[in-house]
Amino acid sequence: MTTALMANYGNPSLQFTHGKGSFLYTADEEVYLDFTAGIAVNCLGHCHPALVKAIQTQSETLWHTSNLFSNPVTERLAKRLTELSFADRVFFANSGTEAVECGFKMMRRYHYHHGNPQRQRIITLTESFHGRTLAPIAACRNPLHIEGFLVGDSGFDQVRYGDLQALADSITDKTAGVILEPVQGEGGIRPATAEYLRGIRELCDQHDLLLMFDEVQSGMGRTGHLFAHQAHGIEPDLLASAKGLGGGFPIGACLSTEKVAAVMTAGTHGSTFGGNPLAAAVANAVLDELTSPGFMPQVKDRSQKLCQGIDALAKAFPGVLKGYTGAGLMIGIVSAGSNAELLAALQQQKVLAVKAGGNSVRLLPPLNVSESEIDQALAALEAACRHLSQQ
Ligand SMILES: *Cc1c(COP(=O)(O)O)cnc(C)c1O
Repeated sequence: MTTALMANYGNPSLQFTHGKGSFLYTADEEVYLDFTAGIAVNCLGHCHPALVKAIQTQSETLWHTSNLFSNPVTERLAKRLTELSFADRVFFANSGTEAVECGFKMMRRYHYHHGNPQRQRIITLTESFHGRTLAPIAACRNPLHIEGFLVGDSGFDQVRYGDLQALADSITDKTAGVILEPVQGEGGIRPATAEYLRGIRELCDQHDLLLMFDEVQSGMGRTGHLFAHQAHGIEPDLLASAKGLGGGFPIGACLSTEKVAAVMTAGTHGSTFGGNPLAAAVANAVLDELTSPGFMPQVKDRSQKLCQGIDALAKAFPGVLKGYTGAGLMIGIVSAGSNAELLAALQQQKVLAVKAGGNSVRLLPPLNVSESEIDQALAALEAACRHLSQQ
């Protein structure tokens, strides 16, 4: 395919022209079951009627004013997010990386405001992913993401995932806070234990460090809770959200307690597009669905069905599948061979998934995926396993 797009996405060979629910269609009506959901973005599938209606209605009312002015749609979304979480205040951005950036700025500004301008360093974990702008790539230090891009260490200290003692040892009088994903995504689907999260929370409390959860991927119902950390009763000071928040429309959010938000006085931060009425209207419609009775229990039911199926296939094809990791509908199938080959074999069976670290393939179906679509995905996975085990 000739293209005027840059080659940074590796020039994908599949092209889709339309989507409906859990399915994507090519121009000649080839159908794929979409278990990427736009990388955990299309949480209600493609062209969900309630989201289509929300964007149609809002597009005839008010698209954008910039944040020079207030509007009721964005106000309502912020209020609802605070009512549904630990947070008291919200800053809206357009993407996950911007939501994370806002949190980094707030961590540093908090200590600056309280007379400790030297407290600028932020602790991060290995195999984490927080986005692709300069601060997040410096935070994560993935060799593929930083090569040729960084100046210095940009103020981040990285410690080994899961090692609470290493984290404690890395705290100095220059540390401002800690950021982590309650369920690591890109690095391989890896849920943090409640014990680990509690240990980090306690260290942060002891040293007056701010704790930020990056729930860009694990949030918005993905694990069967609005935010993954809510399963454990451990609360952060800051939280980054994006991906599923707009159900396919770009929007990100940095949520915060009043204590931290209090330092973000007029002029400290901003975004021209962030949280515009069009984006906020879609996000409000997403929240309507996610908070409707029975929605989260259904996510858990579907998760159980999918996981049981994968487990059975891992037992039947131990040379192909090692098993799975994950929570809710954020599932990593761990390959016993090559995850790239497993992904390609699934695609041969017309099921789309996403590669992740830890030699795994991520299944991120829409949260309203049906039982029969899960059966279809499992049948495709079985066919892919059979194919790979015969090689
Ligand atoms: C995708 C992702 C990001 C970055 O989001 P963008 O919208 O691509 O900027 C940040 N953190 C996590 C955990 C993610 O999964």
